[in-house]
Amino acid sequence: MRTNFSLAQLADRHLADAEKNLRACVHCGICTATCPTYVLLGDERDGPRGRIVMMQNMLESREAPTPQTVHHLDRCLSCLGCRTACPSGVDYPRLIDVARAHVETHYARPWSDRALRWLIAHVLTQPARARTMFTLAKISAPLHFLLPGRLRVMARKGAAMKVGPISSPAEVSSGTKRIALMPGCVQKALAPEIDEAVARLLARRGFSLVPLEGAGCCGSLVHHLGREDEAKAWAIRAIESFERADGDFEAVLITATGCSSHLKDLAHLFAGDPKWKPRALRFAAKVKDFSELISPRGAENPHRLRVAYHAPCSLQHGLRILGANEKLLTAAGFDVAAIPEGHLCCGSAGSYSILQPELADVLRTRKLANIAAVEPDVIATANIGCLEHLSGGTPIVHVAELLDWAEGGPKPLALHQIARN
Ligand code: SF4
Ligand code: SF4
Repeated sequence: MRTNFSLAQLADRHLADAEKNLRACVHCGICTATCPTYVLLGDERDGPRGRIVMMQNMLESREAPTPQTVHHLDRCLSCLGCRTACPSGVDYPRLIDVARAHVETHYARPWSDRALRWLIAHVLTQPARARTMFTLAKISAPLHFLLPGRLRVMARKGAAMKVGPISSPAEVSSGTKRIALMPGCVQKALAPEIDEAVARLLARRGFSLVPLEGAGCCGSLVHHLGREDEAKAWAIRAIESFERADGDFEAVLITATGCSSHLKDLAHLFAGDPKWKPRALRFAAKVKDFSELISPRGAENPHRLRVAYHAPCSLQHGLRILGANEKLLTAAGFDVAAIPEGHLCCGSAGSYSILQPELADVLRTRKLANIAAVEPDVIATANIGCLEHLSGGTPIVHVAELLDWAEGGPKPLALHQIARN
């Protein structure tokens, strides 16, 4: 596709990357059928090809986008199904990321939208604040009807969360090989048992899991909101913590695939920055997803449960890791069932389920119907966002909890209602 950027515009490395990808798009439309919002809405502007045209017009003009453009770009899940489908190698994140940053700096959103985004950026990224908000949401449940639209949705979601004490797994010293654990954000408040299961799994394989002191959220939540400066601030905090720890670390781990996908791609945030890009590259090179660190093992205590495995988009389209968790679960004695339409997003997508609740709900219902079709005892996934979004019916757990249980660890909390095994 032809582009019309000026030389001055192309001096910006982010725009130069975007332009390269705009030129690579031949408008074949192969990606449209794999785009969840196009599948639901059937509107070209809610598919990747239409969005790419809108992004090009917006970026070339350098002007504020129209409300229509923002409406259709906001509906993109960043699931990256289109990147997987594209035969021309269009790297869609290089477009949507720069487009979101442009919207953030050039478009005046309504105050309610700004308030909601501020809350997401400043509360959900901090475990203690998130925990307080969930607790307040529970206490104030009878008054939720007074809140406006999406704030009400957020309050109801918060009230439904099960919150416990915030904790990190104790360092399990079982070997000389050390892995640094990024603490992350809401998972610490909602499901600290995931990192505890991972610590035990790694200990059995001779690794010590060491919490990375001083690091926090990975920054993907604010990155997807177009808040680039905040995303960089979180990234710098993680990089500095890693460097301070003077890690003879084998790897850096974060146990949610949405976060590991973001961290592996971290250097793109610092395109054209001679100080931080090399440091981001060194850090990102150490990041490993959970499925890359755990080797398959026979089960000490096989539990013959039927597991519907939900592959998060960040794993299959972001990290492009296919089949690894299924192999681990099968080796541990579980009967793993593939879910129909497994390539389609469940609607969680970071803060999407708060910002676009109607579409997120339709995608959730569709995903749960596909899961029900394989009649599972339990759903397993690898990302806290998907786990929370799909919870409420069939028990759902992180893959690590099932593997740990099979290797002699405790039964996952969510499975206590299952009498069998
Ligand atoms: S499949 Fe690739 S080249 Fe074809 S329209 Fe989609 S992004 Fe463009
Ligand atoms: S990232 Fe997902 S929702 Fe966005 S255009 Fe691509 S396929 Fe569609």
